[in-house]
Amino acid sequence: MSAGAKGLRGHILISHTHWDHIQGIPFFAPLFVPGNEWDIYGPKGLGQSLREALAGQMQYTYFPVTLDQCGAKIRYHDLVEGTFDIDDIKVSTHYLNHPALTFGYRLEADGVAVVYASDHEPHSRMLATGHGEITGQDLRHAEFVNCADLLIHDAQFTAEEYPAKIGWGHSTVEYVVKLSKYAEVKRVALTHHDPLRDDDAIDRLLASIRARLRENASSLDVFAAVEGQVVEVAPSHEKGSACRAGEFQAQTPIEPALAESSVLLGIVDTKMAAALSEVIRAEGIHVEFFSDLDEARKLVAKDRPSLAILEHDPPRIDGMETCRAIRQQDNDYEHQLPVVMVASQEDQAPGAAAGVTDWLIKPFTGAYARTKIRAWVLRTACQWMRGLIPEDEERRLARPPVHVQQRRRAGARARGSRPMAQKGTEKRRSLEKVISTDKSALLWMYCREIAPFETPTFSNKVGELIARATSTPSDQKCEILGH
Ligand SMILES: [Zn+2]
Ligand SMILES: [Zn+2]
Repeated sequence: MSAGAKGLRGHILISHTHWDHIQGIPFFAPLFVPGNEWDIYGPKGLGQSLREALAGQMQYTYFPVTLDQCGAKIRYHDLVEGTFDIDDIKVSTHYLNHPALTFGYRLEADGVAVVYASDHEPHSRMLATGHGEITGQDLRHAEFVNCADLLIHDAQFTAEEYPAKIGWGHSTVEYVVKLSKYAEVKRVALTHHDPLRDDDAIDRLLASIRARLRENASSLDVFAAVEGQVVEVAPSHEKGSACRAGEFQAQTPIEPALAESSVLLGIVDTKMAAALSEVIRAEGIHVEFFSDLDEARKLVAKDRPSLAILEHDPPRIDGMETCRAIRQQDNDYEHQLPVVMVASQEDQAPGAAAGVTDWLIKPFTGAYARTKIRAWVLRTACQWMRGLIPEDEERRLARPPVHVQQRRRAGARARGSRPMAQKGTEKRRSLEKVISTDKSALLWMYCREIAPFETPTFSNKVGELIARATSTPSDQKCEILGH
């Protein structure tokens, strides 16, 4: 803008909408210039959209200009975990561990990978102090940052400060160094510095980290991010982009798969059960309780919850046994169901053997629990979106869809239209091509809304319409849908 350029085009990736990450937006002049075009990306929540969340801080009470009065054309993208492209840049998104739904972004182009991961707290409290193994969800995080040429990572605290900051949703420098070495990261920029640490204190911290790295003959380059800093990342063509998070299209509309979400709760502690069910209901999600193993198995088979939260506090309650019982049913669904274990400490190895997906370590705040629940419910919805669409679906819909009724009877659950992965889909999933946003939305609408009322003539007609719509430009699609 200072050079007088007109018609600027840009993209803004937002990790989450906590104030320290969005307060620059109302003061970002290029948003106010007519002719400019901006795409803003952020994690899709439940209920509120990214645009609504951003508009909230610019309401009349707080700011003289509303978001809608910005002169530039702004497009909002509510994303789920997956990948999408910005021109020739491949972007992958991954949920971080923070008391708000937060994305890390991995950008790959020209043989270079840059990862931005703030705000994030290691899942394992031991790991936060720089000790212990990288396993479970922490391993997923390591895979996400794997081989990054530049990792920009949250490092707000030190291991010494951490015990007083558990659950704040931030990392320690010791953890970030351990993670970077493990994941063979080349350069790491420490960021989200604690507001109480001044520049000299950061320099001292950096000097001690570098001294330790030298002692261990590590080639890791660690520096502290500075406002206004520009970092050049040289292409390293010998390395391919093998580190993508997943092949799911991050802009897929998953609302229909969210519509009937429920969470199965196996918590004996009545206070905690009440607190958790309040948090789940605040997300607009149905809660189901069970009292014994049999009931748990029945509920899982019948209601197909998006997530199970179990308590493990032996000898009072054995969550591992419940988890094993759920996993024992020989069905794809039971194996995919995320199980979050509430316990006073993680027990990674026996947990993994029992089939525990994630841990919620006591004590935790409502915001933390809520975010974890959100993330898993959204992930399950994405799984269902993937599982719903068999390999040959596009081809099948191009022909008159005559077998939908049988498919539903064989595969759908009692409550009706919720999609589920059928046997064998898990194996196929890795081979599936990415299905475009428009196509998946149309397939969804078809399967959910139309199939229950199917009559041969009607569904033939609809099948043809969808086939035509998915191969025509977007304006024509709208017209067809409008009819
Ligand atoms: Zn935050
Ligand atoms: Zn923050």
